Amino acid sequence: MIATVQFVRTTFDRFNALCFEGVLPSVPIVLTKAGTFLGKMEYKSRRDFFGIISSHYDFRLKISTGFDLPQEELEDVVIHEMIHYYIAYRNLSDTSVHGETFRRIMETVNQKYDRHITVRHHGDPKQNLVRDGSVQYRKHYLCVSTFSNGNRGITVCASTKIFELYRLLPKYYRISKMEWYGSIDPFFNRFPRANTPKIYKITEEELSEHLRDSIPLKCDGHTIGPV
Ligand SMILES: [Zn+2]
Repeated sequence: MIATVQFVRTTFDRFNALCFEGVLPSVPIVLTKAGTFLGKMEYKSRRDFFGIISSHYDFRLKISTGFDLPQEELEDVVIHEMIHYYIAYRNLSDTSVHGETFRRIMETVNQKYDRHITVRHHGDPKQNLVRDGSVQYRKHYLCVSTFSNGNRGITVCASTKIFELYRLLPKYYRISKMEWYGSIDPFFNRFPRANTPKIYKITEEELSEHLRDSIPLKCDGHTIGPV
């Protein structure tokens, strides 16, 4: 059979209820004559100011009408794309496009519902979307203080203590300037997360090297965000 919007919609609703506890919001279905893929889940990504994907939106399920397939195979194509949808919708991390998370869900569905979903012959969402989710970044909120003698030091702030430290650091140290940065550079993992006002020594070389890819932030004591 050749896919129709009605068929894809019915299949989506049926397996959403059966395999995904009905959690997937209904999605626009687009038929295409593409001969290069059977199905494709397209979506956009939102990033926070660290550049890390925080959520996905604007989902579209594309199904090709360029193939004549047995109904069951066509259903498996739709379910395959629904697994991509589930992972992106929940913002789950995976090790690759069809990584450990994808395969775990796929195998569960195959076993439980006697399906034959595979990771072959399907169009894939953009590599980079998934690759980003596979790495666990630590987000660092940095305060770089300049002492009255010109030396600089660093505080890697606990995210819940930023505004407290903003207030307290100048009370505990003689500092002439405080600058704020956001960074995911693993270099900053070595500093303790400060809950209390404490400034750590850092060389100017290290500082300038590791601030290069950071995001300058503006802190006013109540909010913090990109400059
Ligand atoms: Zn796929």
